[in-house]
Order: sequence, then structure tokens, then C-alpha cells
Amino acid sequence: MEKSKNIYDTTSLSDMPPEEFRKYGYELIDWVTEYLKDAEKYPPLSQVNPGDVKKRVPAQPPSKPEQFSDVLNDVDKIIMPGMTHWNHPNFMAYFNSTASAPGILAELLSSAFNINGMLWKSSPASTELEQVTLDWFRQMLSLPEYFWGIIYDTASVSSMHAIAAAREKINIQVREKGLAGRSDIPRLRLYCSEHAHSSIDKGALTIGLGLEGIRKISVDNNFKMIPEKLSEAINEDRKNGWLPFCVVATVGTTSTTSIDPVPEISKICQKEKVWLHVDAAHAGVTAMLPEMKNVFDGVEFADSLVVNPHKWMFIPIDLSVLYTKHKDILKKAFSLVAEYLKTGQDSEVENYMDYGIQLGRRFRSLKLWFVIRYFGIEGIQNILREHLRLGKLFAGWIDEHPEFERMAPTPFSTTCFRANPGNLSEKELDFLNENLMNKVNETGKLFITHTKLNNKFVIRLVVSGIRTKEKHVKEAWKLIQKFYSKIK
Ligand code: PLP
Repeated sequence: MEKSKNIYDTTSLSDMPPEEFRKYGYELIDWVTEYLKDAEKYPPLSQVNPGDVKKRVPAQPPSKPEQFSDVLNDVDKIIMPGMTHWNHPNFMAYFNSTASAPGILAELLSSAFNINGMLWKSSPASTELEQVTLDWFRQMLSLPEYFWGIIYDTASVSSMHAIAAAREKINIQVREKGLAGRSDIPRLRLYCSEHAHSSIDKGALTIGLGLEGIRKISVDNNFKMIPEKLSEAINEDRKNGWLPFCVVATVGTTSTTSIDPVPEISKICQKEKVWLHVDAAHAGVTAMLPEMKNVFDGVEFADSLVVNPHKWMFIPIDLSVLYTKHKDILKKAFSLVAEYLKTGQDSEVENYMDYGIQLGRRFRSLKLWFVIRYFGIEGIQNILREHLRLGKLFAGWIDEHPEFERMAPTPFSTTCFRANPGNLSEKELDFLNENLMNKVNETGKLFITHTKLNNKFVIRLVVSGIRTKEKHVKEAWKLIQKFYSKIK
């Protein structure tokens, strides 16, 4: 970036002058435009070693102002090599989260406003836009009107709040008395499948259940929770003095994107009077496609549901949405209004600080608003539909190849597979596939990750990036085959 003569005047006691901001603002937007246009020229997975970035940044902060152009230049020199490019079309690892241009612009505006949406009064536009956009999103997902929504940063935090609300619902006065040292209540149990995301365990840990308070339910051959096992576990626990209070079902598990049988699970939850939380963090957005509506079968009976627009709706991280039927219970669990936070409008408005642990809140709904309006529901649907098509295309290539095998069904766009030449032991197959994945990733052309299914090393390839097109998936498959031929 261009070198400037401007240097901050420390005696001015003010912010960057407007003209300087304008100049660098334009420059930076140009930079971002080129970056997004040419994302492919970078390796999707950073090729640096641990410590490489740190050693290029001075250990002490500068006492004197630096040229802002130097700071921006260092983005190219120091930061870029250490970036794993989630925006890259060949980033097919984890569950991708790509930033669309309207989402990026909304982030810029949100930072410029820099409001704190803790109260309606502290930024009415933030509160009311959150209410409206979450109602739009609810409609897009065809969820019933009784679902009330709130934005948190991540699904981990959304689920933690849902679990805390579930605990509040059983009315054991945790808010007043806590959990530790109490002999007047049984120990609490939460249930989820062996394939539930680790955020559920963390949420349970955070609210004081301990690992023993989480019971993992086994899955069938398609990695879906077995409802009968859930019923049995709840019955057995009740007999042994536990208090079952919450079940978490997943729509789109992290390893394979399997869908737990929510209709059956919800019946059990109703019978047993336990809270049902549905984790649809990644795959939930596909419910906005008429042909995929059935992925939300039974979700109408859930007490809460998490969907992350930041995972597969092209909204820059972070933005997670929790819907619940019981906003009053969530409020009861978390509301605590210090005197200085009381306002004259409290009886008429929603103050989002009442529904969670955080006081300060960013203006996140702005990016939901920008993205939904820019693409329209139709635009988002078309991209999701294409990702599902590409995911199935890749799964088909795996099925057709005599020396590759699919290790799980592909209900969305995530394919779990491995190479299997047919003459190796399980241990050797693990080694071969780990080696294959590492070799492919080392090329700097593709980034894929793995999981373990039934103790077997399995490679995952996920199509969910806004810039990923058929040619990228084809190239990925070619690269995988090329390295397989080299190492087999
Ligand atoms: N739930 C599921 C099913 C996930 O796959 C993930 C992450 O991939 C999470 C929750 C956690 O998401 P977050 O990073 O938003 O906390």
C-alpha cells in the first residue's frame, strides 16, 4: 500500500483526521476487493510454522505513532502468510464460514456505529432490527411464530444459554442457591448423542453439571441418536436418583451431518417433561429450501433451537441465533438489572441484556439485514441448493471409484470418505488416509479435515463456501486422486 507522510500528532488528543480515514478507508476497501476477487492466489491453509508470525511482530508496543501505511503494509508482509483463508473456494474443511461482501460492509458499519445494544435505549435501532431480522429468519426457516429469537456470538454460547434455561425450567432455585453442596436436589442429567458437538459438553460444564451430568446416547449405523436408547437411559437414571432435565438433538452433526430423529426424540421429551434443545448450527439454514423442509421435522416441538447464519449463510463470523418458546424462562435465568441500567421504557421494550450473561452487545443484526436484503431469500436458496448439488456430486465420485469408499450418508454437502485399496489392515488404512489428507493440505491448494467414525480415520470434504464452484470441487477430487496414486 502507498506510503503516506501523515503521522499522528500526539498533542492533538484526537482521532485519526477524517481525510486520512477516508484515504485509508478507500485503500482498504480496494485491498479487500482484490483479496476477495483473487482469494485463490493464496493457499487455503496457512503454510507457516508455530511462532512464525509472532517472531515478526515486535515484543514491545510502539511508544511513538507509526505511519498507518506501514501498519497496512505489515498486513501483507506479516499477517497474510499466517492466514488460513476461510474465504478461499478450496477451503473445504471443518464447517466453513465464508464472508459475503454485504456482510463485510455491514461489519464495517457496525464497527463505525460501535453501539452497545445492551438496552433498547442504548440503541433502539439495534434492538428493533434484531427483533425484525430474527422474525424474518424464523419465517425463512418456516418455524412457528411462537419461536422468539436472540443473537449470540456462537452456537456454543447459544447452546449454553439453552441448557441454562432448561435448568431454570425445572425450578430447583439454582438462581438463588446454586448447585454446589445441596442435598435437597438430585443430580441433573443432560442427554445427547455420541455425535453431539463438544459445545454441548462445554455448555453443561459451564453451568456446573460436570462431565458426569452428561449422558451420551448411542447412535445407529447412520450416526443418528437411537430414541429407544434415550428412553432407556432416562428411565434408568430416574431409578438411580438422577434428575433428567434436558435432551439435545442435532440436525447436522459435526462429523457426518447426520440428523437425529427429532420427531421421536421430541415425543420422549414431552412424555418425560424434559427440555428439548436442537443444535442445527450448520445445517439448519437448509430448512429454507422447500425440498429440505423435512430436516426440521419435529423441531416445532423443541423448546429451543440454534442455527448459525455465520456458518452457511455467508455472514462473517460471528452470528448465532437461538430461538426458544420460553423467553420468560431464559429471562428468569439471566436477568439482573443494576440500578444504572434501569430505563423509563423497561415495561414497553425488550432489553436484550436480560437474556444472557453478556451486558455489552454488538450490532450484529445489521449483517443479517444486509445479507438477506442483498441476496434475497431466492439468492441464498440458490447458493445453498448448488452446494447441496456439489456435495452429492462429490459423494457420487467417491462411490464410483473402486478404491475409495463413503463412510457415512451425505444428507447435506459434507462427504465422509476414505481411500481403501482393499489389501490393508484398519491401522494401515488410518495411516494411508491421514497421510493422504496431509499431503493434499501441504500442497496449499486445498484444505480438508478429518474425523473418526467407529474408530476409523475418515476424511471430510465440505462444500459450503460462497466462492466454491463445481470447478473447485472437481479440482479437489483430482488432487485427492493424484496424491492417492502417489502414496498408495
Ligand atoms: N454445533 C455444531 C453441530 C457444530 O458443528 C459446531 C461447530 O462446528 C458448533 C455447534 C459450534 O459452533 P460455534 O463455533 O458457533 O460455537
